[in-house]
Amino acid sequence: MHITEVRLKPMSPRSGDYRLLAFVSITLDDSLIIQNLKLIHCGERRFVSMPSRDVTDRCPRADCGWKNSFRAAFCGHCGSPLERTILPRDHHGRTQLYREVVFPITTAFRKYLEQTIETAYLLATSEHHPGVVVIRVEENGTMRIGEFKTLEDDRGAQVWGL
Ligand SMILES: [Zn+2]
Repeated sequence: MHITEVRLKPMSPRSGDYRLLAFVSITLDDSLIIQNLKLIHCGERRFVSMPSRDVTDRCPRADCGWKNSFRAAFCGHCGSPLERTILPRDHHGRTQLYREVVFPITTAFRKYLEQTIETAYLLATSEHHPGVVVIRVEENGTMRIGEFKTLEDDRGAQVWGL
């Protein structure tokens, strides 16, 4: 499986140990698009955060039952305070407030994914463009800038989480 296109929305440079470098979407084999990845700078390294969703639980009020994020302090539907005694945990016992929706299951593919996105980011930021940079990836890994687009001309600002 190959990444055939990377779309990036680079963010303006900020200082700090932990920062968002770009919103990213990738296309696999010109067939499947995965959106809502992020390239993040953390300490001395960069990593890719995969699309995720918040872990939710139901509002305890009997006539409500609205699904709320574990991060929420109040119900988004009826406004009741949400008191949590048990937090969701992953299999390492760590608190888990979100779950990845799509993620690599091999180290090799994760490495390929991260390297491809990082290289695409360097190419995308070699030119200054405020919108989305579309990068085509050839089968041999060669990359070139395909197009520059505004958020609106692309798939719409909402898709980019902005
Ligand atoms: Zn409620």
